[in-house]
Amino acid sequence: MARPGHKYIFVLGGVMSGVGKGIASSSMGLLLQARGYKVNLVKVDPYLNVDAGTMNPTEHGEVFVLKSGLETDQDMGNYERFLNRDLGPEDYMTSGMVYQTVIARERALEYGGATIEAIPHVRDEILRRIEAAANEAESQISVIEIGGTVGDFQNALFIEAARLLRLQFPDDVAFVMVSYLPVPGTLGEMKTKPTQSAVRELNSYGVQPDFIVARSTHAMDEKRKEKLAIACSVRPDRIISAPDVESIYDVPLNFERDSISDLLLDKLRLPKDTPASLDDWRTFVQKMKADRPKVKIGIVGKYFDTGDYVLSDAYLSIIEALKFSGAEIGVKPEIIWLNAKEYERGAAIEGLSEYDGILVPGGFGESGIEGKLKAIQYARENKIPYFGICYGMQLMVVEYARNVLGLADAHTTEINPDTANPIVAIMDAQKKHMAEKNYGGTMRLGTYVEMVKPGTIAHEAYGSDSVEERHRHRYEINPAYVQQMEEAGMVFSGTSPDGVLMEIAELPREAHPFMLGTQAHPELQARPLDPHPLFTKFLEASLIRAQER
Ligand code: GLN
Repeated sequence: MARPGHKYIFVLGGVMSGVGKGIASSSMGLLLQARGYKVNLVKVDPYLNVDAGTMNPTEHGEVFVLKSGLETDQDMGNYERFLNRDLGPEDYMTSGMVYQTVIARERALEYGGATIEAIPHVRDEILRRIEAAANEAESQISVIEIGGTVGDFQNALFIEAARLLRLQFPDDVAFVMVSYLPVPGTLGEMKTKPTQSAVRELNSYGVQPDFIVARSTHAMDEKRKEKLAIACSVRPDRIISAPDVESIYDVPLNFERDSISDLLLDKLRLPKDTPASLDDWRTFVQKMKADRPKVKIGIVGKYFDTGDYVLSDAYLSIIEALKFSGAEIGVKPEIIWLNAKEYERGAAIEGLSEYDGILVPGGFGESGIEGKLKAIQYARENKIPYFGICYGMQLMVVEYARNVLGLADAHTTEINPDTANPIVAIMDAQKKHMAEKNYGGTMRLGTYVEMVKPGTIAHEAYGSDSVEERHRHRYEINPAYVQQMEEAGMVFSGTSPDGVLMEIAELPREAHPFMLGTQAHPELQARPLDPHPLFTKFLEASLIRAQER
């Protein structure tokens, strides 16, 4: 089934979820790429959603949109950031996608009347997709992360597919288990037993791991390595200690200290002639560690409260984008989460004066809207650098219409469909989908070209007349109001090539040090080795305010 000589590394989770399979996969991908191999990374999400688009960000974290427009898991963002390249829609699969294909083929009588079963039909569709991703990327090595934890019902078929591949091509397939080793406070000792059980569980699927990545709060000592090696039949040098680190970007360098790329290449019988070229990555990591002046950035959002916990996962790419631009220009963004709903419950908006920059990220629906509008008004009136992303751009325009143009009821029709001043509205093409309740796929998704107006802040940032950015939204700035807004001082510095859609709004420098919103999601294209210029400009303006304060 596989192309001859193609190599596969399957990454599986043991003990519990959330221990860093995604970062381990990204790091292995980066290291093998740094050794001169063409690598593709595949994420398998075992849930039945056909894509991540319909999932609540407070539950599942950010929806990461690929260039193609596919809505995926946030791990895909880490993959792109580590590999420093765009991934394709083939590089992502969910159980929902796999079943949808199989069922559609069954309905179309493509199986010629056979009984359709999990084995072989679903398994083979999984293998077909893995193969298609490798072919599309023309890669030599595929790193495939299977979501969830070994022992979950949902991922069993994916593991079964991987087992079959190994059976057919024993020298071309490696298994890496990323497991968690607790150090219970009462004992103060690292315990290997849960990982031993997880490996045994994996063995019951007929799979023996070749590597164990030992995630823990602490580094693993030799004694425990020996113990785990014997208990799990894994060579001790193939047990990679992976203690918590300050920054995920340290992980590849730490892995390499344990020679993981050599070990993987040995296991896969691939030549090790080219040493890893990691200079750029090292330089980036050093910049991240350097002492830098702080800028205080308030992110006014709403997807953080889950029970008693505050989760910033919904805004992951924004956080990373700020870090990359910060490293580039030598400032350290200190991010503070401000819940927009608090400003509606009466929290003093003047508190924002303590910030060097305010960012309103993307979002959907009504909750927190008036709070965000208050924050935007405060940033505008008090000349605090402001960066609006998607909803944050739409609301920046609504705020301007209300408080500068004097259109008191100006709104987005997402919230007030009956407003007399629909500043942000749905475009006709999308209306049809919505009327049919066809929500999956009703958004403008993926990469679009935009034209950037010379002489604007956006143009200064991009240094180009045309750029590509990724989108995820239903609503647009209503073209009927553009002239009026411009006469009142707002500049639409980015538009679609036909000039109909407003992609970037800004205030001129004379009016405000930095007030800019973009309809796109620039955070999705920010990379450690290629920071995004709009984030960089925002931080530069924030640094000036920090120095003045
Ligand atoms: N809710 C807005 C829209 O659908 C903005 C979406 C977003 O911020 N991603 O257009």
